[in-house]
Amino acid sequence: MNIDFHSHYVTEECLKENIRRPDGRLVVQEFSAKDSGNWNSQLFEGLKEKLSDIPTRLKKMDRQNVDLQVLSPPPYMFYYWTEPKIGVALSKLQNDKISEICRRYPERFLGFGTVPMQDVHEANRELERLRNIFGLKGVIISSNINGLDLDNDLFYSFFEKSNELGLPVFVHPHDTAAAERMQAYYMTNLVGNPLDTSIAASRIIFSGLMEKLPNLKIFLAHGGGLLPYIIGRIQRGFKVRPECQAYIVKSPLHYFRQLYFDTVTHDRIALEFLVRSVGSEKVCMGSDYPYDMGEEDPVGFVHSLEIPNGAKDNILGENVRQLLNL
Ligand SMILES: [Zn+2]
Repeated sequence: MNIDFHSHYVTEECLKENIRRPDGRLVVQEFSAKDSGNWNSQLFEGLKEKLSDIPTRLKKMDRQNVDLQVLSPPPYMFYYWTEPKIGVALSKLQNDKISEICRRYPERFLGFGTVPMQDVHEANRELERLRNIFGLKGVIISSNINGLDLDNDLFYSFFEKSNELGLPVFVHPHDTAAAERMQAYYMTNLVGNPLDTSIAASRIIFSGLMEKLPNLKIFLAHGGGLLPYIIGRIQRGFKVRPECQAYIVKSPLHYFRQLYFDTVTHDRIALEFLVRSVGSEKVCMGSDYPYDMGEEDPVGFVHSLEIPNGAKDNILGENVRQLLNL
């Protein structure tokens, strides 16, 4: 079974609420320069059907040879910047909508829900609800929460609760670091996204979060960003720098190999390197459907790798099947 772990679904009812950011921009325009934001607005019009119409999506999945998609809200619909009350309502709306689709097409869709991380108490309440919603198997969060890092004490109870409920956490970049220097060339996405994933993952590793919660499953988007390529440097830091040893006993490499990664790297050699670094049982096929920065042929991409067939089977679906108890 071919499972696309990383695909996005837009709940149109949320957009109808016409909630604008404090700066007056639409959510699809956020965190990008004016030209990229305007381009994204145009693009979004053309993507609406692919994002929200299920028959259109199923046709595409059939063409891609994808049996099952894991649907998650795109990060611009996490709405962390809204008042908690609105954040709760918009999270519920999206989680219920995704669940409804899973119920209608149980053979084709599963979901990862969103929770209002701007209020951790409410996020944890929604996590509890999420656990019992049909088809929802995990939670997607941003690589930072309104600029706060994921190892901030504020968020520990969220990870603890996810662990307790057996819900994997998918860390997806958004609202990236150094954005003011990356306004040109859509670099907030091209460079900022992998950078922010790497910052989030490094902090998760160094803070000892995975030591405290060794059974928690954490997925990183876009092949883990820069992390697989800089893990040697992080490992070196741990060996020679006392501040890197403050909260962990085992080496960063140990925790790195506990993480899960998708395949959205757009480079065969990079993906082969990732598989060699962490093992095929830690890599799960993803497409980032239906965005322009997504992988058009996720199954073909995995088949193109020079790795054993068993490893390809793991990546194509076996890992997600096992992780989500399908
Ligand atoms: Zn994505």
